[in-house]
Amino acid sequence: ASMGGLSLQPEGLRPINLLQDRNILPATPLQAPIPNLHQDIQKLNCNPELFRCTLTNIPQTQALLNKAKLPLGLLLHPFKDLSQLPVVTSSTIVRCRSCRTYINPFVSFLDQRRWKCNLCYRVNDVPEEFMYNPVTRVYGEPHKRPEVQNATIEFMAPSEYMLRPPQPPVYLFVFDVSHNAIETGYLDTVCKTLLDNLDLLPGNTRTKIGFITFDSTIHFYSLQEGLSQPQMLIISDIEDVFIPMPENLLVNLNESKELIQDLLRTLPQMFIKSLETQSALGPALQAAFKLMSPTGGRITVFQTQLPSLGAGALKPREEPNQKASTKDVPLTPSTDFYKKLALDCSGQQVAVDLFLLSGQYSDLASLGCISRYSAGSVHYYQAYHHQHNPLLVEKLQKELKRYLTRKIGFEAVMRIRCTKGLSIHTFHGNFFVRSTDLLSLPNVNPDAGYAVQMSVEESLTDMQVVCFQSALLYTSSKGERRIRVHTLCLPVVNQLSDVYLGADVQAITGLLANMAVDRSISASLSDARDALVNAVIDSLSAYRSSVLTIQQPGLMAPASLRLFPLFILALLKQKAFQSKTNTRLDERIFTMCQVKSQPLVYLMLITHPNLYRIDNLTDEGALNIGDRTVPQPPILQLSVEKLNRDGAFLMDAGSVMFLWVGKNCGQNFISQVLGAPNYASIPHNMTHLPELNTAESSRVLAFIFWLREQRPFFPILYILKDESPWKPSFLQNMIEDRTESALSYYEFLLHIQQKMNK
Ligand SMILES: [Zn+2]
Repeated sequence: ASMGGLSLQPEGLRPINLLQDRNILPATPLQAPIPNLHQDIQKLNCNPELFRCTLTNIPQTQALLNKAKLPLGLLLHPFKDLSQLPVVTSSTIVRCRSCRTYINPFVSFLDQRRWKCNLCYRVNDVPEEFMYNPVTRVYGEPHKRPEVQNATIEFMAPSEYMLRPPQPPVYLFVFDVSHNAIETGYLDTVCKTLLDNLDLLPGNTRTKIGFITFDSTIHFYSLQEGLSQPQMLIISDIEDVFIPMPENLLVNLNESKELIQDLLRTLPQMFIKSLETQSALGPALQAAFKLMSPTGGRITVFQTQLPSLGAGALKPREEPNQKASTKDVPLTPSTDFYKKLALDCSGQQVAVDLFLLSGQYSDLASLGCISRYSAGSVHYYQAYHHQHNPLLVEKLQKELKRYLTRKIGFEAVMRIRCTKGLSIHTFHGNFFVRSTDLLSLPNVNPDAGYAVQMSVEESLTDMQVVCFQSALLYTSSKGERRIRVHTLCLPVVNQLSDVYLGADVQAITGLLANMAVDRSISASLSDARDALVNAVIDSLSAYRSSVLTIQQPGLMAPASLRLFPLFILALLKQKAFQSKTNTRLDERIFTMCQVKSQPLVYLMLITHPNLYRIDNLTDEGALNIGDRTVPQPPILQLSVEKLNRDGAFLMDAGSVMFLWVGKNCGQNFISQVLGAPNYASIPHNMTHLPELNTAESSRVLAFIFWLREQRPFFPILYILKDESPWKPSFLQNMIEDRTESALSYYEFLLHIQQKMNK
């Protein structure tokens, strides 16, 4: 009866006529659905920010899953920063002898001495050591151990969990110093930020660091202790790259700190008069790989243009224009050089992070492979320039600080196990799949998200619940081998209505977005777009024909899926998948990279931004964080209908924010928040809010600061008036409205309805 009986219709199944009900977007952030489990089990369940499923009611059979026309999969943010994490230091790690599952809150104890695995059902013995509870210091209560009281836990791994002694943290920075790179002025910002954060790099006394610069040749830097200054070694034979000296290129950070600081201070000036236009990125990466192979670690590469020389050189491709068909957008890599090199890196525990700061086409579709298959990350600063684009300077500075100081795991692998009968068939994210369920992660960072698709291979008959467990084995920056484990428990259902009842619309949207990226690359952008629309048509058709008992006119959706068409429309208008716009190729590819690697919460924000009215913020409903009061204005629908010329509105689109000021906005807001005497005097290129000594200013600043502090990247703020050059970007995010080439939300609903009636 707890499995969502239909006699009292649960809220999630309430039919909603989408054509009539125009106010479906909640005013507060959408929460993940709570699995329909007994309270005692649910309170132990994994935090949905870390681990969640598209269907919180798992269909008993593949036939039932097929009928629902919704994708079954998991979304993970496994290495997220946590405020609390229980760490177990026992010498014995208790795992199922048959399937190697870690003991967890959802196992059952047959008696004091035996536990039954919740994934394969084997009965295991409880080891003697597990009988003692280090938290309560009581003997004979194995069910109260931290391992069975916490869905998220970290184990200290004993020596059998390592193939070699834990590697030291090793960081190698590779800088493009071609004429073009020097023109952008990025080196100055990067070296300054590195200098400021040198002592905050994760690590210990074993930390090593090195530097390579390149143009048409490759430059190494010897940082040998005792040298009065760094010594540059130039390799000009880029056809056959070799390492010029065996030591002192990767040096101990502590011991050579002064030389390192010296190098970082001089680097930005060293190439100022350079006339080198070529960029031999491929050979530079080959050199970096050779240097890092013995230890593994992290390569951070800064590139500002299309690689033009040596292995991995790329040819310019023509930007598709607005009229180009979505069938012809070239999204596939033009060479496998970067993928192959990434796989070599992966094999040696080396990850490559790419910072692309380019004004022209640089073939990110090919370059991105270096990070994708080595578990790295891609960062993109389109048209970076230290003078012409000061906002990007600030953005790079802030994001680089996070990048340099966030925690890191080395030499990692992740495995996702699920209850017998369920099977994972496709993985999404940056990694290399080593065997069917083992993901190789040379580095793991706390800002990376992953997704997997599953099928029901054997019917889950007679099962009340199923479980999923991810285990991340890594070497910490302090040289400890650790295992972070998350376990999720979900109920099994055999009714289609229950499958819909438990649908997690955000997770479904996130998984479909990942699938659409694959589809764009393997087939075409138009195929991917069709598949997204079909997901809505097919699921709502199945709901109508198999669940709705009374047929009524209109477009009906269960309450759990009421936002599904809206989110899919938002995806179709998102830079990754939009058609017939001026989206540049690299920008589109970068958005696809983000879809593949961002945790769900940020993916949703880039797809469907949050809009707030902020000229009348109050303390009503505000959050109190320490001595700060953070207003919580309601979230508005993304339509210009919601704007009002008398007000000011903030749009939070994840990596960018827009503050739109209406023409007749109250004088109070203009003077007390913007610090301008009147509307006309608000500058056109305003990107910062002044810190004014007024209650209005404090509220707005507190709200924006709070939004920013909750994410690892730094959203630029654009303040815009009616005639602003940023207006088109702002309006493009108003996804409910019609544009020249895309349907409005209402038109989209009519389109869905029409297709369903065919
Ligand atoms: Zn087992």
